[in-house]
Amino acid sequence: MTQSSVSNGVLLIKGGRVFELAGDVDAPSIADILIIDGEIAAVGTGLDGKIRASALPEIGGRKVDEVIDASDKLVIPGFVNAHYHSHDVLLKGCFETIPLELWLMSALPPNYPKRSAAEIRARTLVGAIECLRGGITTVQDLATLYPFDEEHLDTVLQAYEDIGIRCVFALQIADIPGVKLVPFWNEVVPERERALLTGATEPLKGIDLPTLTRDIVRSRQGRHQRVTWALGPSSPGSCSEDLLTKLSDLSRSDDLPIYTHIYESKAMTLSARHHHARDGGSLVNYLKRLGLLSPRLTLAHSIWMAPAEMEALASEGVNVVLNPVSNLKTRGGVAPIPAFMSNRVNLGLGCDNCSCSDAQNMFQAMKMFTSLAGLYDQRPGPPTAADAIHAATVGGARTAGLEGRIGAIRPGMAADLSILDLSDPAFVPLNSAARQLVFSECGRSVETVIVDGRVVVRDRKIMTIDERSLREEVAELMKALREDLRAVMARNQRLLPYHGCPSADLLRQRRYQPLHRRLRLIRTSTTEHRGVSNRRSRRKLGRLSRLRPRPTGDIVARAARASTCQDRC
Ligand SMILES: [Zn+2]
Repeated sequence: MTQSSVSNGVLLIKGGRVFELAGDVDAPSIADILIIDGEIAAVGTGLDGKIRASALPEIGGRKVDEVIDASDKLVIPGFVNAHYHSHDVLLKGCFETIPLELWLMSALPPNYPKRSAAEIRARTLVGAIECLRGGITTVQDLATLYPFDEEHLDTVLQAYEDIGIRCVFALQIADIPGVKLVPFWNEVVPERERALLTGATEPLKGIDLPTLTRDIVRSRQGRHQRVTWALGPSSPGSCSEDLLTKLSDLSRSDDLPIYTHIYESKAMTLSARHHHARDGGSLVNYLKRLGLLSPRLTLAHSIWMAPAEMEALASEGVNVVLNPVSNLKTRGGVAPIPAFMSNRVNLGLGCDNCSCSDAQNMFQAMKMFTSLAGLYDQRPGPPTAADAIHAATVGGARTAGLEGRIGAIRPGMAADLSILDLSDPAFVPLNSAARQLVFSECGRSVETVIVDGRVVVRDRKIMTIDERSLREEVAELMKALREDLRAVMARNQRLLPYHGCPSADLLRQRRYQPLHRRLRLIRTSTTEHRGVSNRRSRRKLGRLSRLRPRPTGDIVARAARASTCQDRC
């Protein structure tokens, strides 16, 4: 373990340009920041002189333990990576752009044998290092530990404690097997193969999930200084009503955020329209009926959200976390960003899995966020660069239940911030700090990162663990993981004819386009792009569940032919 400045002490950051969303986002003012015991005590000019003249009551007669010279630097609030999974960090770069359903079968823990505690610690650290080096000070980890093992859970938490990042941790759980989640798999995949189609959501066997979740949260809350807790039902489709209701009760009684995935691909959306007739084919209506819609709920992705659903989210204060990079890489689609904004839905940004984005980089996410909105509306307008920074800081903090604690550099808030080098070409010349953060920077200028008042990155180096020995350990661990990956890919070759193939065919074929339009899986209307809803669109939502596509004969026959061919091979 290497040395680092600890959070219990007094730290002064001198003479940097301090970014404040409510201030001048193009030319932030130069100011000093006084940090005492992990909290921002004062922000202003000339704090150094006032301390020397004993004219700063906030410091209370204590001495300054460390001064960081931030001249020609930009000081920004730490980013909140509001959607992330630590379980596949070591699989970055293993997959091309593939559809979500195939990626789920390739990357997620239920597809692999049980991992070692050493591998789990290493992957958690590598992911956290990438986050920190890019100025992410809080990460929301929705981690699948399959099969569940308390030692593995404590290994993850200890790794976060050791590296020094802030983490909102949720154990990802589900109780409906993956085979039931993709349209038509049950109809076209031979029974003998179905057990292999578990995907991401193989239920943990013999475990009462609500009790497990309650016990692990209550027994560990407050154990790690920078770890707070959330609940992680994988998706409304992969969790039973009973599980969702019990998690909703726990969220209410213990004031815990809930993170879940919704409308991440067309197949996932089609499945929802299919299976939730009672709720008008809408997962939002379903979650509302179960009592989950509240400011404690955060919906990741939300790509195929209908206008009436967005209105419901806005009125209930539900948060949405957009993951533009992973959604493009898994061919899921582009979320209706302008519509979310015009409905004033709180937005956070996430970098999602390392094997489907494949980078923990909020600069990429912010640039995508502003740029992809143009697919829906070609006129000038939001989201601006400042809107992207808001989503990456304040918006993410709100999803974590940490609003007012992180996401801005103000007295009383936790000292979570990054210091960026303004001599980097991304900022030369400095025309607009906000726009150059979003459009020019890629993470190269992040020089110092402070979490909870503790310097965890200094001169672009992690101060809390030995990166070199971690790299050597990962190289050793990869021998077993690569072997297992090869076995998973070989199995997937055998299953390839069925991987989302029938649903993908259905979604691709021209003659089904009118159906897609009615199911709102194609967006054509300008009003819909902008999120303008009306009585007619609400009536349409009510009818979605009555539009029930069926696998056609040719799709079934094609899958059967492929199956026969596989048998022969
Ligand atoms: Zn996710």
